[in-house]
Amino acid sequence: MSALLEGKTALVMGVANRWSIATSIARALHEHGARLALTYEGERTKDEVEKLAGELGGGLALHCDVASDESLANLRAVLESEYKQINTLVHSIAFARREELAGKYYATGRDGFRIALDISAFSLVALSRELQPIIKPGGSVMTMTYLGSVRAVQSYNVMGVAKAALEASVRYLAVDLGEQGIRVNGISAGPIKTASARAVSGFTNILAEVALRAPLRRNVSANDVGNVSVFLSSDLSSAITGQVIYVDAGYSIVGI
Ligand code: NAP
Repeated sequence: MSALLEGKTALVMGVANRWSIATSIARALHEHGARLALTYEGERTKDEVEKLAGELGGGLALHCDVASDESLANLRAVLESEYKQINTLVHSIAFARREELAGKYYATGRDGFRIALDISAFSLVALSRELQPIIKPGGSVMTMTYLGSVRAVQSYNVMGVAKAALEASVRYLAVDLGEQGIRVNGISAGPIKTASARAVSGFTNILAEVALRAPLRRNVSANDVGNVSVFLSSDLSSAITGQVIYVDAGYSIVGI
């Protein structure tokens, strides 16, 4: 436990269960002194997220569906009345239909494309717009991305295209929010076994490939990502914005 984030409030979005990257991020931020608010989407996860919020200092556990503007406005209203302002926004949210995460990319349907881009990329834009009035100057917005944005990764398909849009959004939002002293960055995590990851066809082969070829000869854990989220939330990263930081045991730098 350190006091690096003492006095800071972090909103962590995308906790589905204990394996979620957002869960490890929330734990890490709490361990370094941040006060938390967590959000969840599925009603079936409500109890688990409330329990986690209780364990991590008793912060708010709020429902938010990023596909709904009304839900985003409601989130802002509750945060404003309970916490007034926040310092950190963690966007750890993505969705694509399972049938889009296998086979040929060109088979992606119009609706499948729209849903994946809406939930996984546009949601960061909508959230940034809605919450920017309550993010303190010096605050930090971060989102989770993956190598499939810049490389063609088998079966990742439309999610890779959504991540490319997400990473471009990081850069545009960094310019927009930089005027207010708010930083926006992406963390490109190596593959981690979570509910979302398991929806990608052949995911276990991807894990094995990384462990074999990454310079560090291992996969990354959600805790590795949590540690970087602490850095990005803290003033130690005060001059870093618009970047994608790879937390992938070095896999992305390997050629032949
Ligand atoms: P996860 O536990 O399944 O988290 C995904 C989250 O997105 C869930 O909490 C899910 O909530 C939420 N979500 C989906 N639709 C939503 C909506 N309409 N409104 C609000 N929330 C919604 O999987 P994860 O691996 O931790 O994923 C977190 C982020 O990390 C994603 O952006 C993912 O692409 C990224 N990432 C993952 C990996 C990996 O290998 N795991 C690698 C790099 C990047 P419900 O389940 O309640 O719907």
